[in-house]
This record gives sequence, C-alpha cells and structure tokens, in this order.
Amino acid sequence: MVVLVQGLVARRRGPVRRMLGGAEHRSGRTSNHVSTLPTPPAAIAWGRVGRYDLSRDDVAQLLDGEPAYRATQLWEGLYRHGSDPSELTVLPRPLRERLAHDPRLAPSLVELRRSTSEQGKVVKWLWSLAGRGRVETVLMHYRDRSTVCISSQAGCAMGCGFCATGQAGFQRNLTAGEMVEQVIRAAAAARAGGRRLSNVVYMGMGEPLANYERVWASVERIHDELGLSARHLTVSTVGIVAGIRRLARERLPVNLAVSLHAANDQLRNSLVPVNRRYPLASLMEACRAYLDAKGRRLSFEWALMDGVNDRPRDAAELVTLVRPLRAHVNLIPLNPTPGWPTRGTPPHRVRAFRDELVALGVNATVRRNRGTDIDAACGQLAAAEVGSVDSVASMASAEATGAGASG
Ligand code: SF4
Repeated sequence: MVVLVQGLVARRRGPVRRMLGGAEHRSGRTSNHVSTLPTPPAAIAWGRVGRYDLSRDDVAQLLDGEPAYRATQLWEGLYRHGSDPSELTVLPRPLRERLAHDPRLAPSLVELRRSTSEQGKVVKWLWSLAGRGRVETVLMHYRDRSTVCISSQAGCAMGCGFCATGQAGFQRNLTAGEMVEQVIRAAAAARAGGRRLSNVVYMGMGEPLANYERVWASVERIHDELGLSARHLTVSTVGIVAGIRRLARERLPVNLAVSLHAANDQLRNSLVPVNRRYPLASLMEACRAYLDAKGRRLSFEWALMDGVNDRPRDAAELVTLVRPLRAHVNLIPLNPTPGWPTRGTPPHRVRAFRDELVALGVNATVRRNRGTDIDAACGQLAAAEVGSVDSVASMASAEATGAGASG
C-alpha cells in the first residue's frame, strides 16, 4: 500500500482478483517462544529463503552438534543486535566462519542505494532481493519516535492508476523474512544514529493484505522477537475487506490504516480498482467490525489530488463515512512523480480541506511528504532505478503468472 502517490488513470484490473485470499497463519507465543515463519515452496524453489525466514528450530538444526546455547546466541545476535553471523564474537571463530558461508544464513536484501534527506531524518533504501525484484524501505525520524515504512510486495497488482508502484505492476510477494529484514536493517541504522526504532508501518510497495499470510507472520516475528508492541505496528490496506476481517480475528491488535482517497463508489472505482470488488459500504462495515474487535484507532489516508478529491463535496462525503467510526484522517498532498499529469492539491487548499473536516467534527492531520527530494514516496525509487514505468510493467506482467496466486 503506497501512501504517497501520483497520477489518476486506473487500469490493469486483471491481477487484482488473483492476489486476494490465501490461508490463515497463526503461531502461538510463549515465554521461550519458538516462532515459525512459513517458508513457501516457491520461495525455496527460487532460492529466496534468507536468514530471517528461518525458525528457531531451523537455526538449532544449523548448529547441530554444538551446545544448545549456541542457537540462542545466534538467534539473539540476528534479532537483538541485527548482526551478521560473522560478527558474532561470542561464537568460536571456526563456527563463525562456517556460518558466514552457509547460504541459509545469507541476507535477503542487497543494498543498491541509500539516500538521506532532511539532515539524516529520512533514510531510504533501494534493495535488490535475492531471487528477483527490487523494493524500498524508508526510515523516518520524528522528535518522539522513529518509524520504518516497509514493503510487502515487489510491485503491486492492485492497479491504482495514480501510484507509481501500481503502474509498474506486480512482480512477487515478499517472504516474511524479507519484511523482517527490512525492519532489522532500519533498526540497525537507527541505532547507529543514536535512535531507537519504535514503529513499523506496512505502507511501502505492495498491498499487505494481498500477501496476508507472510505479512502476518512478519508482524508476529517483529512483535515477538524485536519487542515492538502491537500499538506500534500498523498494517495498511487499499480496502481488501476479506483481509480486514481476518485481521480482526488475529491475536495482536495492530493499528489499521485504510487508504481511501475517495468517498463515493464512482470516484473510488476509477482511482482504486479493488473498490469494484469491495465497495465502500462493505469496506466501512469491515472497518466497524475491526474497531469493535480490537478497539484500536482507525485511520484513513487521503491523497489530495488537485480538482479530483479536494472539493467541498468530497470533504462532506468523507465526513459522512468516517465520523461514525471516530476515525482519524491523514491528508497527504499528492506526491510529485514524473510522467503523471495530476498534481497535488496546493497548500492553501490542503489547509482549507483539513479545516472543513475539523469543522464538521473529524480529526484530520496534514502529513508532510517527507523526503520528496530523494523520491521517498514509496514505489518511486525502484521504478526510477529499473527504467521506465512501461519497462517495469512489462517485466512484472511477465513474471506475475504463478507468483500472483500466492498472495
Ligand atoms: S497500486 Fe498498490 S501500492 Fe499503489 S496505491 Fe494501490 S494498493 Fe498501494
């Protein structure tokens, strides 16, 4: 789910249906937790299982013949310190050397580019995934918190025309370990700058609820092994109702953010194709059910597009939907992306839109487009790196067959 977006034309509706669904995954938690991440057969076939896709049992097996506490040392080194096995000086040198060459302990992410802006307050990575695909991660430091925005898919099949990632099409689902590793790498960078990573938002490339099983496995791993509470974890969606209802049955009450962008079906159908499958009435019902089940504050994201969804009647329709849910609205001026004509709403009209919402009894905040000078809008840097949007779309379209069914 990309929050910072561009453009208007909605197309490529075909893959959306293929991406919906998937089996539910749960894992229990105990004080001496052995968490198990699903390692999908496709990932194994593609050689994409990395160190954070391994379960604790897997790690113990790697250390077969060693004292049992070595597995704990390795596990804690990976999760608490984000260390490479070769750096774990608590392990004997011969063991370190063996582990350093074990492909099952290889990292999944190869850093292609790191960009910083705002005097280091925003850091963005472009990663190459082992196997194939490129994704982005953005770390943002605020006065009182440090938040990482992670990707859940390489590309996206949802086809929102205003979004750079949507235009590029779908490549593949990320494994749970690839998502966890984004968090681990950002946490290490935050630590190196004297900060502590406090929040994780699934708002980067991809639609998290179209990769449900692995996203939820990563949520549990981040919660259980990194110690981030559920109130500091936010899963976003463009409105996959079936996924929201599954989320409401999970053990962890994570925050839910819904990218709305339009408050009537006609406009939303044109901006967000999945709305044709899950119209606003069913989406709002699912949001209500989530609220009732989890008691978490719900937020709606609204990318303000000049002359498209920033008119007084848009504000009035939005209020009608969100006020009964006592939800918060985050207003995000459309982020500039080369090649798409629709502009973001000018600042004075952004403020007017917010004031209108507030006057009508809705909590609304204008979010800054952080890091636009480094293309920190999710989805943009990857598209820029691999060439034109069209070339990415062709590649993604060719690769989507088969991978698309696993979400
Ligand atoms: S195309 Fe995908 S990543 Fe882009 S806004 Fe839509 S759901 Fe989010």
